[in-house]
Amino acid sequence: MFKLNEDYLALRGSYLFSTIAKKVAKYKEENPDRTVISLGIGDVTRPLTPTILKALHTAVDEMGNEATFRGYAPDLGYEFLRKAIAENDYKKRGCDIDKDEIFVSDGAKSDSGNIQEIFSGDNVIAVSDPVYPVYVDTNVMAGRTGKFDEKTGQWSRVVYMPCTLENGFCPQIPSKPCDIIYICSPNNPTGTALKKDELQKWVDFANEKKAVIIFDAAYEAYISDPEVPHSIYECRGARTCAIELRSFSKNAGFTGVRLGFTVVPKDLKDGNGTELHSLWARRHGTKFNGAPYIQQRAGEAVYSPEGQREIAGLVSYYMDNAKTILKGLKEAGYSAFGGENAPYIWLKTPEGMSSWDFFDLLLERANVVGTPGSGFGPSGEGYFRLTAFGTKDNTVEAVSRIKGI
Ligand code: PLP
Repeated sequence: MFKLNEDYLALRGSYLFSTIAKKVAKYKEENPDRTVISLGIGDVTRPLTPTILKALHTAVDEMGNEATFRGYAPDLGYEFLRKAIAENDYKKRGCDIDKDEIFVSDGAKSDSGNIQEIFSGDNVIAVSDPVYPVYVDTNVMAGRTGKFDEKTGQWSRVVYMPCTLENGFCPQIPSKPCDIIYICSPNNPTGTALKKDELQKWVDFANEKKAVIIFDAAYEAYISDPEVPHSIYECRGARTCAIELRSFSKNAGFTGVRLGFTVVPKDLKDGNGTELHSLWARRHGTKFNGAPYIQQRAGEAVYSPEGQREIAGLVSYYMDNAKTILKGLKEAGYSAFGGENAPYIWLKTPEGMSSWDFFDLLLERANVVGTPGSGFGPSGEGYFRLTAFGTKDNTVEAVSRIKGI
Protein backbone atom coordinates (compact mmCIF):
# COMPACT_ATOMS: atom_id res chain seq x y z
CA MET A 1 0.00 0.00 0.00
CA PHE A 2 1.28 3.47 -0.79
CA LYS A 3 2.38 5.79 1.99
CA LEU A 4 2.25 9.55 2.00
CA ASN A 5 5.20 11.85 2.49
CA GLU A 6 5.49 12.33 6.29
CA ASP A 7 6.95 15.79 5.79
CA TYR A 8 3.81 16.93 3.97
CA LEU A 9 1.70 15.45 6.75
CA ALA A 10 3.60 17.67 9.21
CA LEU A 11 2.23 20.85 7.55
CA ARG A 12 0.15 23.00 9.89
CA GLY A 13 -3.45 23.84 9.04
CA SER A 14 -4.29 25.00 5.55
CA TYR A 15 -2.58 27.73 3.54
CA LEU A 16 -3.44 31.06 5.24
CA PHE A 17 -5.35 32.53 2.31
CA SER A 18 -7.44 29.38 1.84
CA THR A 19 -8.54 29.66 5.49
CA ILE A 20 -9.50 33.31 4.95
CA ALA A 21 -11.33 32.52 1.71
CA LYS A 22 -13.41 29.86 3.49
CA LYS A 23 -14.32 32.23 6.34
CA VAL A 24 -15.30 34.99 3.92
CA ALA A 25 -17.36 32.60 1.74
CA LYS A 26 -19.29 31.46 4.84
CA TYR A 27 -19.89 35.06 5.93
CA LYS A 28 -21.16 36.03 2.45
CA GLU A 29 -23.47 33.03 2.36
CA GLU A 30 -24.95 33.97 5.73
CA ASN A 31 -25.14 37.68 4.86
CA PRO A 32 -26.08 37.89 1.15
CA ASP A 33 -27.20 41.54 1.48
CA ARG A 34 -23.76 42.84 2.56
CA THR A 35 -21.06 44.03 0.17
CA VAL A 36 -17.74 42.72 1.33
CA ILE A 37 -14.57 44.57 0.28
CA SER A 38 -11.33 42.65 0.25
CA LEU A 39 -8.06 44.30 1.20
CA GLY A 40 -6.81 40.86 2.18
CA ILE A 41 -4.96 38.86 -0.44
CA GLY A 42 -2.17 40.71 -2.26
CA ASP A 43 -3.72 40.49 -5.71
CA VAL A 44 -3.80 43.34 -8.20
CA THR A 45 -7.01 44.87 -9.56
CA ARG A 46 -5.86 47.12 -12.44
CA PRO A 47 -6.06 45.64 -15.95
CA LEU A 48 -2.98 45.04 -18.09
CA THR A 49 -1.66 48.19 -19.77
CA PRO A 50 -1.97 48.86 -23.57
CA THR A 51 1.69 48.18 -24.45
CA ILE A 52 1.63 44.83 -22.67
CA LEU A 53 -1.69 43.88 -24.26
CA LYS A 54 -0.33 44.74 -27.70
CA ALA A 55 2.73 42.54 -27.12
CA LEU A 56 0.48 39.67 -25.99
CA HIS A 57 -1.73 39.98 -29.10
CA THR A 58 1.27 40.12 -31.42
CA ALA A 59 2.80 37.05 -29.79
CA VAL A 60 -0.49 35.15 -30.03
CA ASP A 61 -0.64 35.94 -33.76
CA GLU A 62 2.94 34.75 -34.20
CA MET A 63 1.98 31.43 -32.62
CA GLY A 64 -0.73 31.01 -35.25
CA ASN A 65 1.65 31.54 -38.15
CA GLU A 66 3.76 28.71 -39.57
CA ALA A 67 6.79 30.96 -40.03
CA THR A 68 6.82 32.39 -36.51
CA PHE A 69 5.35 29.57 -34.41
CA ARG A 70 7.43 28.56 -31.35
CA GLY A 71 7.47 25.33 -29.37
CA TYR A 72 9.32 24.74 -26.12
CA ALA A 73 11.10 27.83 -24.80
CA PRO A 74 14.84 27.68 -24.06
CA ASP A 75 15.57 26.41 -20.52
CA LEU A 76 16.74 29.72 -19.08
CA GLY A 77 14.13 31.76 -20.96
CA TYR A 78 14.28 33.67 -24.26
CA GLU A 79 17.38 35.78 -24.70
CA PHE A 80 15.32 38.87 -25.69
CA LEU A 81 13.77 38.89 -22.21
CA ARG A 82 16.90 37.99 -20.24
CA LYS A 83 18.80 40.75 -22.09
CA ALA A 84 16.08 43.31 -21.22
CA ILE A 85 16.14 42.21 -17.56
CA ALA A 86 19.95 42.31 -17.31
CA GLU A 87 20.05 45.75 -18.89
CA ASN A 88 17.15 47.42 -17.08
CA ASP A 89 16.97 45.75 -13.67
CA TYR A 90 20.70 45.27 -13.14
CA LYS A 91 23.16 47.18 -15.40
CA LYS A 92 21.17 50.44 -15.02
CA ARG A 93 21.46 50.09 -11.25
CA GLY A 94 25.17 49.32 -11.39
CA CYS A 95 24.73 45.59 -10.66
CA ASP A 96 27.03 43.10 -12.30
CA ILE A 97 24.52 40.47 -13.45
CA ASP A 98 24.79 38.72 -16.80
CA LYS A 99 21.77 37.60 -18.84
CA ASP A 100 22.95 34.00 -18.48
CA GLU A 101 22.58 34.23 -14.70
CA ILE A 102 18.85 34.90 -15.07
CA PHE A 103 16.33 32.03 -15.03
CA VAL A 104 12.91 33.01 -16.36
CA SER A 105 10.02 31.27 -14.64
CA ASP A 106 6.27 31.37 -14.14
CA GLY A 107 6.60 33.52 -11.03
CA ALA A 108 8.32 34.08 -7.71
CA LYS A 109 6.03 31.84 -5.66
CA SER A 110 7.15 28.67 -7.38
CA ASP A 111 10.79 29.77 -7.38
CA SER A 112 10.73 30.76 -3.70
CA GLY A 113 9.19 27.37 -2.94
CA ASN A 114 11.44 25.31 -5.20
CA ILE A 115 14.84 26.90 -4.65
CA GLN A 116 15.34 25.09 -1.33
CA GLU A 117 15.47 21.77 -3.27
CA ILE A 118 19.11 22.30 -4.22
CA PHE A 119 20.19 22.53 -0.57
CA SER A 120 20.79 19.64 1.80
CA GLY A 121 18.05 18.72 4.26
CA ASP A 122 20.50 19.42 7.11
CA ASN A 123 20.66 23.14 6.42
CA VAL A 124 19.14 25.44 9.00
CA ILE A 125 16.87 28.13 7.62
CA ALA A 126 16.42 31.59 9.11
CA VAL A 127 13.24 33.51 8.41
CA SER A 128 11.84 36.79 9.60
CA ASP A 129 8.83 36.50 11.84
CA PRO A 130 6.24 37.44 10.52
CA VAL A 131 7.03 35.87 7.15
CA TYR A 132 5.57 35.15 3.69
CA PRO A 133 4.25 31.63 4.52
CA VAL A 134 5.69 29.93 1.42
CA TYR A 135 9.29 30.04 2.76
CA VAL A 136 8.48 28.04 5.90
CA ASP A 137 5.87 25.69 4.44
CA THR A 138 8.11 24.57 1.58
CA ASN A 139 10.90 23.83 4.06
CA VAL A 140 8.41 21.86 6.17
CA MET A 141 7.59 19.88 3.01
CA ALA A 142 11.33 19.23 2.63
CA GLY A 143 11.61 17.92 6.22
CA ARG A 144 14.02 20.66 7.22
CA THR A 145 12.12 22.34 10.05
CA GLY A 146 12.00 19.87 12.99
CA LYS A 147 9.04 19.65 15.34
CA PHE A 148 6.25 22.19 15.70
CA ASP A 149 5.70 23.67 19.16
CA GLU A 150 1.99 24.44 19.66
CA LYS A 151 2.75 26.87 22.49
CA THR A 152 5.24 29.07 20.66
CA GLY A 153 3.87 28.46 17.16
CA GLN A 154 7.45 27.78 16.00
CA TRP A 155 9.37 24.94 14.34
CA SER A 156 12.28 23.64 16.43
CA ARG A 157 14.98 23.81 13.69
CA VAL A 158 14.00 27.17 12.22
CA VAL A 159 15.81 30.31 13.32
CA TYR A 160 13.19 33.04 13.68
CA MET A 161 14.14 36.69 13.39
CA PRO A 162 11.37 38.62 15.15
CA CYS A 163 10.37 41.83 13.40
CA THR A 164 8.77 44.00 16.02
CA LEU A 165 7.91 47.60 16.73
CA GLU A 166 11.16 47.86 18.74
CA ASN A 167 13.39 46.97 15.77
CA GLY A 168 11.27 48.85 13.21
CA PHE A 169 10.02 45.49 11.83
CA CYS A 170 13.49 44.76 10.38
CA PRO A 171 15.14 41.36 10.85
CA GLN A 172 18.23 41.43 13.07
CA ILE A 173 21.27 39.20 12.51
CA PRO A 174 20.64 36.06 14.58
CA SER A 175 23.03 34.73 17.21
CA LYS A 176 22.13 31.10 16.33
CA PRO A 177 23.91 29.49 13.35
CA CYS A 178 21.95 29.36 10.11
CA ASP A 179 22.74 28.35 6.52
CA ILE A 180 19.89 29.67 4.36
CA ILE A 181 18.55 33.14 5.16
CA TYR A 182 15.30 34.34 3.62
CA ILE A 183 15.00 38.12 3.32
CA CYS A 184 12.03 39.82 1.71
CA SER A 185 12.47 43.55 1.10
CA PRO A 186 10.23 45.50 0.60
CA ASN A 187 8.51 43.17 3.00
CA ASN A 188 5.34 41.21 2.78
CA PRO A 189 3.58 41.43 5.25
CA THR A 190 5.00 44.37 7.25
CA GLY A 191 5.53 46.76 4.31
CA THR A 192 8.94 47.82 5.64
CA ALA A 193 12.13 47.87 3.56
CA LEU A 194 15.83 47.48 4.38
CA LYS A 195 18.15 50.38 3.58
CA LYS A 196 21.37 49.65 1.69
CA ASP A 197 23.63 49.81 4.79
CA GLU A 198 21.30 47.38 6.62
CA LEU A 199 21.25 44.94 3.70
CA GLN A 200 25.04 45.23 3.34
CA LYS A 201 25.37 43.90 6.93
CA TRP A 202 23.44 40.78 5.89
CA VAL A 203 25.62 40.28 2.83
CA ASP A 204 28.80 40.61 4.93
CA PHE A 205 27.38 38.22 7.53
CA ALA A 206 26.42 35.62 4.90
CA ASN A 207 29.85 35.78 3.24
CA GLU A 208 31.60 35.47 6.61
CA LYS A 209 29.46 32.48 7.74
CA LYS A 210 29.29 30.86 4.28
CA ALA A 211 25.52 31.13 4.36
CA VAL A 212 23.26 31.88 1.39
CA ILE A 213 20.65 34.64 1.25
CA ILE A 214 17.46 34.09 -0.70
CA PHE A 215 16.43 37.66 -1.40
CA ASP A 216 12.82 38.13 -2.45
CA ALA A 217 12.48 41.42 -4.32
CA ALA A 218 8.92 40.84 -5.60
CA TYR A 219 7.94 44.35 -4.46
CA GLU A 220 11.00 46.31 -5.60
CA ALA A 221 8.93 48.49 -7.96
CA TYR A 222 7.23 50.07 -4.94
CA ILE A 223 10.43 51.54 -3.48
CA SER A 224 10.36 55.33 -3.24
CA ASP A 225 13.22 55.89 -0.77
CA PRO A 226 16.54 56.31 -2.66
CA GLU A 227 18.38 54.68 0.26
CA VAL A 228 16.51 51.40 -0.24
CA PRO A 229 18.20 49.09 -2.77
CA HIS A 230 16.09 47.52 -5.53
CA SER A 231 18.41 44.54 -5.80
CA ILE A 232 20.68 42.78 -3.31
CA TYR A 233 23.40 42.96 -6.00
CA GLU A 234 23.66 46.69 -5.24
CA CYS A 235 25.53 45.49 -2.12
CA ARG A 236 29.26 44.65 -2.24
CA GLY A 237 29.94 40.91 -2.27
CA ALA A 238 26.37 39.78 -2.95
CA ARG A 239 27.45 37.73 -6.00
CA THR A 240 29.08 35.18 -3.70
CA CYS A 241 26.20 34.76 -1.26
CA ALA A 242 22.84 35.74 -2.74
CA ILE A 243 20.06 34.45 -4.95
CA GLU A 244 17.41 36.99 -5.98
CA LEU A 245 13.75 36.34 -6.76
CA ARG A 246 11.73 38.72 -8.93
CA SER A 247 8.19 38.81 -10.25
CA PHE A 248 6.17 40.68 -12.89
CA SER A 249 3.03 40.15 -10.78
CA LYS A 250 3.01 43.23 -8.62
CA ASN A 251 4.77 45.78 -10.85
CA ALA A 252 3.03 44.96 -14.14
CA GLY A 253 -0.17 43.21 -13.03
CA PHE A 254 0.88 39.71 -14.14
CA THR A 255 -0.68 37.75 -11.23
CA GLY A 256 -2.92 35.98 -13.74
CA VAL A 257 -0.48 36.13 -16.66
CA ARG A 258 2.40 34.48 -14.68
CA LEU A 259 6.01 35.51 -15.20
CA GLY A 260 9.01 35.94 -12.92
CA PHE A 261 12.70 35.17 -12.72
CA THR A 262 15.46 34.09 -10.39
CA VAL A 263 19.06 35.26 -10.46
CA VAL A 264 21.77 32.81 -9.48
CA PRO A 265 25.22 34.37 -9.97
CA LYS A 266 27.97 32.07 -11.22
CA ASP A 267 30.24 33.18 -8.33
CA LEU A 268 27.91 31.57 -5.80
CA LYS A 269 29.51 28.25 -4.81
CA ASP A 270 29.30 25.77 -1.95
CA GLY A 271 32.30 24.78 0.23
CA ASN A 272 33.48 22.31 -2.46
CA GLY A 273 33.40 24.91 -5.22
CA THR A 274 30.22 23.63 -6.88
CA GLU A 275 28.31 26.36 -8.67
CA LEU A 276 24.73 26.74 -7.49
CA HIS A 277 24.01 28.11 -10.97
CA SER A 278 24.67 24.74 -12.64
CA LEU A 279 22.65 22.87 -10.04
CA TRP A 280 19.66 25.21 -10.42
CA ALA A 281 20.03 24.96 -14.21
CA ARG A 282 19.88 21.17 -13.87
CA ARG A 283 16.80 21.38 -11.66
CA HIS A 284 15.12 24.00 -13.88
CA GLY A 285 15.76 21.93 -17.00
CA THR A 286 14.46 18.74 -15.39
CA LYS A 287 11.32 19.91 -13.63
CA PHE A 288 10.25 22.99 -15.60
CA ASN A 289 9.56 23.38 -19.31
CA GLY A 290 9.81 27.14 -19.56
CA ALA A 291 7.51 30.14 -19.25
CA PRO A 292 5.32 30.57 -22.36
CA TYR A 293 6.68 32.57 -25.32
CA ILE A 294 3.59 34.81 -25.24
CA GLN A 295 4.21 35.78 -21.61
CA GLN A 296 7.91 36.35 -22.22
CA ARG A 297 7.09 38.78 -25.06
CA ALA A 298 4.74 40.59 -22.63
CA GLY A 299 7.60 40.71 -20.11
CA GLU A 300 9.87 42.22 -22.76
CA ALA A 301 7.24 44.93 -23.41
CA VAL A 302 7.36 45.88 -19.71
CA TYR A 303 10.90 47.19 -20.33
CA SER A 304 10.03 49.34 -23.36
CA PRO A 305 9.85 53.11 -22.63
CA GLU A 306 6.03 53.07 -22.98
CA GLY A 307 5.81 49.91 -20.86
CA GLN A 308 7.90 51.54 -18.13
CA ARG A 309 5.71 54.66 -18.19
CA GLU A 310 2.53 52.61 -17.98
CA ILE A 311 3.66 50.38 -15.12
CA ALA A 312 4.85 53.44 -13.18
CA GLY A 313 1.21 54.53 -13.44
CA LEU A 314 0.03 51.23 -11.93
CA VAL A 315 2.48 51.52 -9.05
CA SER A 316 1.46 55.10 -8.32
CA TYR A 317 -2.25 54.12 -8.41
CA TYR A 318 -1.68 51.49 -5.71
CA MET A 319 0.60 53.75 -3.70
CA ASP A 320 -2.14 56.41 -3.67
CA ASN A 321 -4.35 53.74 -2.11
CA ALA A 322 -1.61 53.05 0.44
CA LYS A 323 -1.62 56.76 1.36
CA THR A 324 -5.42 56.72 1.70
CA ILE A 325 -5.26 53.71 4.02
CA LEU A 326 -2.40 55.07 6.13
CA LYS A 327 -4.06 58.47 6.51
CA GLY A 328 -7.48 56.98 7.36
CA LEU A 329 -6.07 54.54 9.90
CA LYS A 330 -4.07 57.26 11.61
CA GLU A 331 -7.13 59.52 11.74
CA ALA A 332 -9.06 56.64 13.31
CA GLY A 333 -6.38 56.33 16.00
CA TYR A 334 -4.61 53.18 14.77
CA SER A 335 -0.83 52.75 14.81
CA ALA A 336 0.03 51.86 11.23
CA PHE A 337 3.34 51.08 9.51
CA GLY A 338 4.67 50.31 6.02
CA GLY A 339 2.87 51.67 2.96
CA GLU A 340 5.76 53.91 1.89
CA ASN A 341 8.03 51.52 -0.02
CA ALA A 342 5.51 48.68 -0.30
CA PRO A 343 1.82 48.19 -1.07
CA TYR A 344 1.18 46.72 2.41
CA ILE A 345 0.05 48.43 5.59
CA TRP A 346 0.76 46.74 8.92
CA LEU A 347 -1.44 47.96 11.72
CA LYS A 348 -1.57 47.32 15.44
CA THR A 349 -4.91 45.82 16.51
CA PRO A 350 -6.81 47.94 19.04
CA GLU A 351 -6.57 47.34 22.80
CA GLY A 352 -4.49 44.18 22.61
CA MET A 353 -7.13 42.39 20.49
CA SER A 354 -5.88 39.19 18.81
CA SER A 355 -5.29 39.28 15.05
CA TRP A 356 -8.13 36.81 14.32
CA ASP A 357 -10.56 38.64 16.65
CA PHE A 358 -9.81 41.83 14.74
CA PHE A 359 -10.35 39.93 11.46
CA ASP A 360 -13.84 38.91 12.68
CA LEU A 361 -14.60 42.42 13.94
CA LEU A 362 -13.62 44.02 10.65
CA LEU A 363 -15.55 41.46 8.61
CA GLU A 364 -18.71 41.72 10.72
CA ARG A 365 -18.78 45.44 11.50
CA ALA A 366 -17.16 46.95 8.39
CA ASN A 367 -17.52 44.08 5.89
CA VAL A 368 -13.85 44.52 5.10
CA VAL A 369 -11.45 41.61 4.71
CA GLY A 370 -7.83 41.91 5.82
CA THR A 371 -5.18 39.41 6.84
CA PRO A 372 -4.51 38.50 10.48
CA GLY A 373 -0.85 39.17 11.35
CA SER A 374 -0.59 35.96 13.38
CA GLY A 375 -1.10 34.00 10.15
CA PHE A 376 2.39 35.15 9.12
CA GLY A 377 4.09 34.00 12.34
CA PRO A 378 4.01 34.38 16.12
CA SER A 379 5.40 37.95 16.10
CA GLY A 380 2.50 38.94 13.85
CA GLU A 381 0.05 38.38 16.72
CA GLY A 382 -1.68 41.66 17.59
CA TYR A 383 -1.09 43.00 14.05
CA PHE A 384 -3.11 43.05 10.87
CA ARG A 385 -2.25 43.49 7.18
CA LEU A 386 -4.18 45.57 4.66
CA THR A 387 -3.20 45.73 1.01
CA ALA A 388 -3.23 48.73 -1.31
CA PHE A 389 -4.06 46.54 -4.32
CA GLY A 390 -7.82 47.26 -4.24
CA THR A 391 -9.57 49.63 -6.61
CA LYS A 392 -9.48 53.27 -5.58
CA ASP A 393 -13.25 53.36 -4.88
CA ASN A 394 -13.18 50.20 -2.77
CA THR A 395 -10.17 51.46 -0.84
CA VAL A 396 -11.83 54.78 -0.04
CA GLU A 397 -15.05 53.00 0.96
CA ALA A 398 -13.21 50.40 3.10
CA VAL A 399 -11.29 53.12 4.95
CA SER A 400 -14.47 55.07 5.62
CA ARG A 401 -16.14 51.91 6.98
CA ILE A 402 -13.13 51.14 9.21
CA LYS A 403 -13.25 54.71 10.55
CA GLY A 404 -16.93 54.16 11.34
CA ILE A 405 -16.40 51.12 13.59
N1 PLP B 1 7.08 36.69 -2.99
C1 PLP B 1 6.35 37.43 -2.16
C2 PLP B 1 6.99 38.05 -0.98
C3 PLP B 1 4.98 37.61 -2.37
O1 PLP B 1 4.25 38.33 -1.53
C4 PLP B 1 4.38 37.00 -3.50
C5 PLP B 1 2.95 37.11 -3.78
O2 PLP B 1 2.12 37.56 -3.06
C6 PLP B 1 5.18 36.25 -4.34
C7 PLP B 1 6.52 36.11 -4.05
C8 PLP B 1 4.57 35.53 -5.49
O3 PLP B 1 4.80 36.15 -6.68
P1 PLP B 1 4.33 35.50 -8.07
O4 PLP B 1 2.96 36.01 -8.37
O5 PLP B 1 5.36 35.94 -9.03
O6 PLP B 1 4.33 34.02 -7.92
